[in-house]
Amino acid sequence: MRLARPLENLIDNLLKLPTIGPKTAQRLALYILKMPAAEARQLAQAIIDAREKVFPCSRCGYLTDIDPCFICRDETRDTSILCVAEEASDIIAMERTGYRGRYYVLNKNFNLMDDNNLEDLNLDSFINQLASGEVKEVVLALNPDIEGEVISRYLAGLADGHGVKATRLAHGLPVGGDIEFADEITLRRALEGRKEI
Ligand SMILES: [Zn+2]
Repeated sequence: MRLARPLENLIDNLLKLPTIGPKTAQRLALYILKMPAAEARQLAQAIIDAREKVFPCSRCGYLTDIDPCFICRDETRDTSILCVAEEASDIIAMERTGYRGRYYVLNKNFNLMDDNNLEDLNLDSFINQLASGEVKEVVLALNPDIEGEVISRYLAGLADGHGVKATRLAHGLPVGGDIEFADEITLRRALEGRKEI
């Protein structure tokens, strides 16, 4: 059955989203068609606004619409401790544990299989912060998989070169799991039990 071209176009675009299969894309597209016009326009505008106005903080990499972000501006935070995470969504999980230090988000999908180079990671701001002398401890909160392990060791080496202690999240996190999906108790325990590497 042939669909109206604009509808087909909407389905094709929804299909580009993760976890959305053809049936879900079709259901969502038909749902959007039934929405009041104002709501549909709001949805489209929200996508445009988020895409155009949100960017990684120049200091920590967290997604923000002001630079530096609200975490970097917060003077009540402990600036001696810097938590390194892979994605901004990991920060949201870490914040739920009550952690009050600062962050550094890598925002990069590093894949050993793709021949990525550790030098490709954007670490200028990270290295500047190590060199500032303010940071006393780097907490490596990377996903417990092979890439996370390789990057952790590399960053621990950089920290060591600046005389900064490097620790990592400890027990409780499933190997091969995602920090993003860890429950807050598991993540808090892992944070409290962090080990020097
Ligand atoms: Zn920031």
